[in-house]
Amino acid sequence: MVADVVAVMDRLYPPATAEPWDRVGLTVGSRNAAVTKIIYTVDCTAAVVAEAVSVGADMIIAHHPLLLRGVHSITDEDPKGRCVTELVKGGITLHVAHTNADKPACGVVAALADALGVTGTTPLVPAPAEPLDLLVTFVPQPQEATLLDALADAGAGAVGSYDRCSFTSPGIGRFRPLPGAEPYLGTVGQVERVTETRVEMVLPRPRRDDVVQALLRAHPYQTPAFHLIETATTTATDIGLGRIGALPSPMRLAEFVSRVGQALPRSGGVRVSGDPDRVVGLVAVQAGAGDDLLDVARTRGADVYVTSDLRHHPASEALEWADAPALVDIPHWAAEYTWLPVVQRLVGERLAAAGTPVPSVISTVVTDPWNAT
Ligand SMILES: [Zn+2]
Repeated sequence: MVADVVAVMDRLYPPATAEPWDRVGLTVGSRNAAVTKIIYTVDCTAAVVAEAVSVGADMIIAHHPLLLRGVHSITDEDPKGRCVTELVKGGITLHVAHTNADKPACGVVAALADALGVTGTTPLVPAPAEPLDLLVTFVPQPQEATLLDALADAGAGAVGSYDRCSFTSPGIGRFRPLPGAEPYLGTVGQVERVTETRVEMVLPRPRRDDVVQALLRAHPYQTPAFHLIETATTTATDIGLGRIGALPSPMRLAEFVSRVGQALPRSGGVRVSGDPDRVVGLVAVQAGAGDDLLDVARTRGADVYVTSDLRHHPASEALEWADAPALVDIPHWAAEYTWLPVVQRLVGERLAAAGTPVPSVISTVVTDPWNAT
């Protein structure tokens, strides 16, 4: 089902990590539809939809959003409308992973860095870790498992690729029910001692209210004791904008540029700024338009910055700095194409492991708008 594929994609590339202006996720179709073949592409164009029909694919996973800006009509009178119309007619679902696919260690930028032979990469601009709360509560031991289940079902204990994470320790709880109380254990007016379990679970901060509601529903006590702590966040994460890493051994810029040309799916379209004999070892990479990370690449000490769509003014101004990296501007489509075999393999492995394998192909349509040099 489409929902199974979307769930796998969302775990690899959490939609919450997309930039605020972005539009990612299921774009056309139904989560409840069956999937018999997936086709991966950088762009969903009319030619890609036609290819999907001809190869029998009923789900397209694309990098660029088809509908990024406001749409006021879906007709066959403009290219995007025709695309949506053909998708619906063909029973084809479209799912998009864009800036959320750029940022993680299994993402688009990392795939480009890997293709260029850059190793040990970390984000150029690390993203802050997801904010977490720590829930601490106390429950009579016989009810421990029930409470843990309820908290986990509400989203507590989910950390990265793990769920149901918890820590428990035994202890003694004490309380005295006052007149008017209806205690689950104990007698009004008498101090009660109960063997309890201290439960600790972290939870994504946006799940806070859901988890507290689940706690109040599942806990046997009239007034359960609990507290929440907001944990400190760090940027020691492996997700973020761009990546930086080293070549296995330093080489001349000219040699590196030739390596870049060989790593990309189509030759041509590579522009270079720098002394061909300059020795480069530390490489900064950003897939897509990378003007905005020119300064970061320099201040992080990169010898060369590989990106796409560099414009005259930002590039020429960046080169005025004495410690400016060499610049290698590569075709946007080719840079992001390097991700397609990676996402195809990762999704394929996870669907197969879940017992729901789905065949897939990579689109052969070159959606690079620049077809001659
Ligand atoms: Zn792009």
